[in-house]
Formats: sequence, C-alpha cells, structure tokens
Amino acid sequence: MRRMRNLKIVATLGPASSDHDTIRALFEAGADVFRLNMSHGSHDDIAGRHAIIRRIEQETGRPIAILIDLQGPKLRVGAFVNGEEMLEEGAAFRLDLDETPGTSTRAPLPHPEIFRALEAGASLLVNDGKIRLRVEECGPDFANCRVVVGGVISNRKGVNVPDVVLPLAALSEKDRADLEFVCDLGIDWLALSFVQRPEDLAEARALVRGRAALMAKIEKPAAVKTFDGILEKADGIMVARGDLGVELPVQNVPPIQKRLVRKCRAAGKPVIVATQMLESMIESPMPTRAEVSDVAAAIYEGTDAVMLSAESAAGQYPVEAVQTMHNVAIEVESDPTWREVIDASRKVAHETTADGIVAAAREIAEATNIKAICCFTESGTTASLVARERPHVPIVALTSKQETARRLCLTWGTHCVRTDPVDRFKAAVLSAVRAAVEYGFAVPEDQIVVTAGVPFNVPGTTNILRVAPCEERLIFHSEPE
Ligand code: PGA
Ligand code: MN
Repeated sequence: MRRMRNLKIVATLGPASSDHDTIRALFEAGADVFRLNMSHGSHDDIAGRHAIIRRIEQETGRPIAILIDLQGPKLRVGAFVNGEEMLEEGAAFRLDLDETPGTSTRAPLPHPEIFRALEAGASLLVNDGKIRLRVEECGPDFANCRVVVGGVISNRKGVNVPDVVLPLAALSEKDRADLEFVCDLGIDWLALSFVQRPEDLAEARALVRGRAALMAKIEKPAAVKTFDGILEKADGIMVARGDLGVELPVQNVPPIQKRLVRKCRAAGKPVIVATQMLESMIESPMPTRAEVSDVAAAIYEGTDAVMLSAESAAGQYPVEAVQTMHNVAIEVESDPTWREVIDASRKVAHETTADGIVAAAREIAEATNIKAICCFTESGTTASLVARERPHVPIVALTSKQETARRLCLTWGTHCVRTDPVDRFKAAVLSAVRAAVEYGFAVPEDQIVVTAGVPFNVPGTTNILRVAPCEERLIFHSEPE
C-alpha cells in the first residue's frame, strides 16, 4: 500500500471518528497521522483510540503516527452568577482574583500570573477573540478594563493575552499528567500548545525522555518573534492558525504561514499547516472554493502536512474531508507550476557529508531515469534531509526502528518501510531494491538510488550513495551475502 502523493494528511479524532471502522476509513481515504487532543476526552477515550490506531497499523502493515496535542496553559475566566452576561462596547469591566461569580461589571480571572504581567494598554481577548478588552489600570490582583468590542461572555470562556509574554510554565499540572500517561501508552509526536519561547521546549524534552518527537505549536505572537530559536529546539512545527488568528490580526496569518513553512523546509523539519482548512465541511459534503485554494496554497508552499480539526473530529463528513485534501494534493502535485515553485523555493545546504549526499541523490534522480531514492535512516534524520530536497521521485525510508517509521509519517514524500537491521552495504542494497519493487516504486531493471551510512546503525553517518539496478536475480532469488 502506497500513497500517490507527497503531502501528508493529519486527521484529528473526536466524537465523529472514534470507532474502528471510521478511523480505518479515514486511513484508507488518506490520513497518515492521527491527532488526539488532550483538551477533550478522558484518558480512557485516548487509550481506546490509541488501541484502535495500533490495530489498524497491524491490519494494514503500514506505520501510522499518533500525534498527541497537549492543552497547554490555556487561560479561562471563572463562572458567572447568571451563566453569561452581555458586555456593551465602551462599558467598564473588571477582572480580579476574587472567586465570587461574575456579573455584568466584573468577573473572576483565576490566573495571578496574568495580573503580574499585565500593563495598562494591553488587550485581553475573550471567547476566541470575539470580545476585546483594553486594560486601563491594573495591579497584582485586578485589571480595570474598557470594553472595546462587546459580546456575550459566559462561564469558563478562554482568554488570550497577545501583547505580553506571560511568565507561565510551558506545561500545566494537567499537561504533565497527560504527558506521562501518553508516553507510557507509546506515541510518536507530542505537540505543545501556546509555546512562547525556545526554553519552553526544554522541560517537555526532559520529561519525554526520547519517547516521542516534540512539536511546537506556533499560536502566539511571542512564538513568532522567537521562532528561529523554537525551530532549533523542536523536531517539528505546527502553524496553529486558530489561536494565531485570535492573538494577531487575521491578515497577519498568511505571511507568517509562508515564512514559517519556508524556514521549516530549510531546516529539514516537518511542518503542519493547521486549522479551518475545510471548515465548511463540518456541515457540508462540499468544501468552498476558498478552502480548496487554501489547501492548495499550502501545498504550493511545500508544507509537509495539512491538518483537519473539527472537520474530522466532530463534523458530519470526516472521510470526505480527508478525500478532499487527498484529491487537491493529487491535482496540485501534477501541476508543472507546482514543481517550478517547489524547485525555486528550495534552499540547498552544504554543511555536512549527508547534505552533499542527499543533494546528489536528488540531482541524479533529476538527470536520469531513477525511480526512487531509498535511504537507510536510523533516527529519521537522513530521510528528513532527503525530504528537504523535495525530489521529484518518491522517497523510500528504510529503517529497523518502528518509532522512526512512525514519526516519518509526517514527513513530505516519505514512504517508510521497516527492514531487519543490516550491517553490510550489499544487504542494504538488496533490501532497498526489494522494498522499491514490493511497494510498486520500481519494476525489475529500473534503477534506484540507495543512500546509507557505514558503519551501519550509527545515526548521522550517511556517507554512501549508489545507483542500483533492480535486478531480477536480486529481487527473487539470491540471499544477502
Ligand atoms: P487547537 O490548536 O486546535 O488546539 O486550538 C490549533 C490552532 O490554534 O490553530
Ligand atoms: Mn490553539
């Protein structure tokens, strides 16, 4: 089983996609990675879906990545006497640490760290940015605000504070408990929400202890400012356009998306473009033209992956939404303009031997009739470097490590195959040839490129490139010497 596209698709699971048959249908329609959101669902729900995904992996014999999204330090107002209140533009409204339920003139905001960091003039956004308050006066336990944009405020609505870097721990108590629980279950990617600075990744990195790759969700202006440092510390990036478009004017999101995708490509780290990609498909079997263009634009930018949120988690057409993304990818990737754009935006790195090998692999594939680039990769790094080249032939990543095969499900154009550990180059070539033929990338007598590192099984040693014919005698008869 192989996908006929380079783009990867991430589908969030939720109430609309919690049973085996639906999740299997999502996989067959094209989902490469499943995202489970810790903001919703109990540990039992998460464990149940985790078990189903692992079962589908067994049934299909293909690696599937599980991405867990930690809630992060999400800020919320407290409760209201009447459950909700209408805030009128121009009115005064006070937020404080007093837990007494709120009224039309004040409400509890049980986060002392916000008050400590606030300054007069800062904005507070409530309920996905629908309500905007401006701080006029504040102290260690209160903020007197003016309502700039009014609306209905209600119990436990989310609060965004875009203008200040909050002295918040990157992981809440809940995040820490969730992290331990999911790492015990065995997951592939762990996404951190509301990352503000590069240091925010350090604590999670220490707690995860190599059990998952780390993704930083970029959804705060502070994270956009310190992005280069965050990218260095993270294994992957999510352009989390939902909260980003609340904390910043929405028109700032597209240029940020373009910049972030380019930087991730140059760094050879996978990037997901997320949120509202096919929003109307929550209720409609047909996307809007604008949504289709949005998905296409992300593919033209060369993103590794696109993501479905509510569309697959809570919508009426989860499978159709995955199919739509798949169809758009097939069409865009067959457009000669897409190839021109991808080539023109490539950044070739010349720092290491591996950089040179992967660039050469792509150039050989361009100049000759090579059918695939097969790379041996222990940690997944070499496969990511090949993917960074965005070659015009498929990438077959061969690894003996299951976790590497799963993590690479997010990486552009990469088809992962588990192999037995090899310790000789001849055996490696044989195993690459067999994988290329088995999965339909090549037929006997086609040629493939094989890259590997000698000595074997030492990460980061890629130093050999070989053009190998898929000789019939290799595929069907001889055993490795
Ligand atoms: P969320 O993150 O769905 O967890 O809020 C994505 C986003 O903010 O875009
Ligand atoms: Mn978010």
